[in-house]
Amino acid sequence: MTTTLDQRPLDTVADFPAIPDGWAYLDTAATSQKPQAVIDAIARGYGETYATVHRGVYQRSADMTLAYEAARNRVASFIGGSADEIVFVRGATEGINLVAHSWIAQQLKAGDRILLSQLEHHSNIVPWQIAAERAGAAIDVIPLTEDHRIDLDAMAAMITPAHKFVALAHVSNVLGSVLDATKATEIAHSVGAKILIDGCQAVPRMAVDVAAIGCDFYVFSGHKLYGPTGIGVLWGRAELLEAMPPYQGGGSMIDRVTFERSTYAPAPTRFEAGTPHIVGALGLHAAIDYVDAIGLERIHAHEAALVADTRTALAHLNSVRVFGPADSAGIVSFAMEGVHPHDIGTILDESRVAIRAGHHCAQPLMASLGVEATARASFGVYNGPRDVEALVAGMERVKRIFG
Ligand code: PMP
Repeated sequence: MTTTLDQRPLDTVADFPAIPDGWAYLDTAATSQKPQAVIDAIARGYGETYATVHRGVYQRSADMTLAYEAARNRVASFIGGSADEIVFVRGATEGINLVAHSWIAQQLKAGDRILLSQLEHHSNIVPWQIAAERAGAAIDVIPLTEDHRIDLDAMAAMITPAHKFVALAHVSNVLGSVLDATKATEIAHSVGAKILIDGCQAVPRMAVDVAAIGCDFYVFSGHKLYGPTGIGVLWGRAELLEAMPPYQGGGSMIDRVTFERSTYAPAPTRFEAGTPHIVGALGLHAAIDYVDAIGLERIHAHEAALVADTRTALAHLNSVRVFGPADSAGIVSFAMEGVHPHDIGTILDESRVAIRAGHHCAQPLMASLGVEATARASFGVYNGPRDVEALVAGMERVKRIFG
């Protein structure tokens, strides 16, 4: 197979000790493999420099506090916010729940509306449903265009001043469709609604600048960005975070506690109750350094070339339906006539190709595509043309078996 990638090789697979030779790992949208630099940062954090943060008066704890806060600064420089706008959370799911419980609980009234899209991950649906049910608010859903993007013309036509909040995926975890987040933000703001962008699948594969987007909240998970599990980021505009009540109570998030009444620390500390995932933050710092050293423009171009080759090759196998727009970011969903995606996944696994099969936590999207499930290949910095070739050879085998 000829590939468009030859001009821009990105040969990083040797950085990833958990990827053995000949294994095509194509499930990065679920979670990415970890480079040695991240593994080393975690090992150093526990094996050499470990102590708690923010409370210890001894030097080791002071040093760890500096390292933890340096990670916060690094996240801020990575996505374009300021450090006091960065809340460390467990992952995107917790970040969305935090906003749904804290901001929404305070602002949402009966009769208000929330706007989501048809392609959202369950993490960006269910927290809003819970908040809406509590407030007596309703949810509206932006449809997709024919080529499976969030339809921003439809959004502009349907949004009203009753819509107080909008939450949209920057990149779809099923289709790879990229949202024009700046335009979506302008539409949300035109009626005074706040907007949260779910950047889980965007941050690992394109440069993100929250200031340029102009959104109000942005969330992502460390483990999809070559970092550890259990650490993620909620970025929120300072004035919004400052006005929000705590999400969880506990140690660290307080100013003063008496049995009569407690007062709270300023943001972001107010939202980080309990001992945080200290070493997770250090691992995330290393992961950001890792992707920044490669360069997100390069990563984006690399994955775009792999997606283009995959889409072309799969389309050549008659009976394979490929979903999503041609310029999908890093992710290709497909289905083969008469074959359950789980069978595709099992047969590909026998050829040492790891893909995801299922509803990808996006059941409303599956319903709108008219399928129960899809097979999904998703790429990362360690993939190359060899992985596309292995996938296509595996799909030829699926076709022979079911043909
Ligand atoms: N949103 C999107 C678009 C995702 O892809 C995912 C993870 N599949 C999530 C939210 C939830 O992320 P996490 O499970 O890491 O909290």
